[in-house]
Amino acid sequence: MQNNKAIVVFSGGQDSTTCLFWALERFEHVEVVTFDYQQRHQEEIEVAQRIAEKLSVKQTILDMSLLNQLAPNALTRSDQAIEEGKGGELPSTFVPGRNLLFLSFATILGRQIDAKHIVTGVCETDFSGYPDCRDIFIKSLNVSLNLSMDDQFVIHTPLMWLNKAETWELADELDAFEFVREETLTCYNGIKGDGCGECPACKLRKRGLEQYLAKRT
Ligand SMILES: [Zn+2]
Repeated sequence: MQNNKAIVVFSGGQDSTTCLFWALERFEHVEVVTFDYQQRHQEEIEVAQRIAEKLSVKQTILDMSLLNQLAPNALTRSDQAIEEGKGGELPSTFVPGRNLLFLSFATILGRQIDAKHIVTGVCETDFSGYPDCRDIFIKSLNVSLNLSMDDQFVIHTPLMWLNKAETWELADELDAFEFVREETLTCYNGIKGDGCGECPACKLRKRGLEQYLAKRT
């Protein structure tokens, strides 16, 4: 029988919550894994927990605080400003190796719970230059993980080629538009829903939302 169990890499943000709804529609059993790497805002973890509870999905929270020890950056250190990358530089929110580590740990957990499908919200379209959001990296990692464990995992990236407006559209198609808009946290200043409106994450989210709403009506 085909394996019908999935694990979603889940932060409680717009992208991973949309991926969770996507997975719930496709797979019989869905669990989520959330990484605690001492994010700037502990609210992120609480928001993720609340969403998992509301959707009755089992959540595993893994302690990844070592990431902060290895690579202090603006997402984990409040003394580092959030800046958009200029002139081809990576933004200050870049955490080197984050997706490499997160997807590897998610897949190891997948092996434990017999979930062959790993779902992640990484996206090459709006990727701010993060090298580990590229499709070619995910495909390469998928091969490496399967070789490393002699297994047949499939990493799914439903948002890979979508822009933010199309991600809102996908949430809407999954009947999750309001839920995603109200319950998720994307804002770097830790404000749920439509957020602070000023930080780079809010601006990106808002621009996509406005584009989609203009098209929707
Ligand atoms: Zn914000």
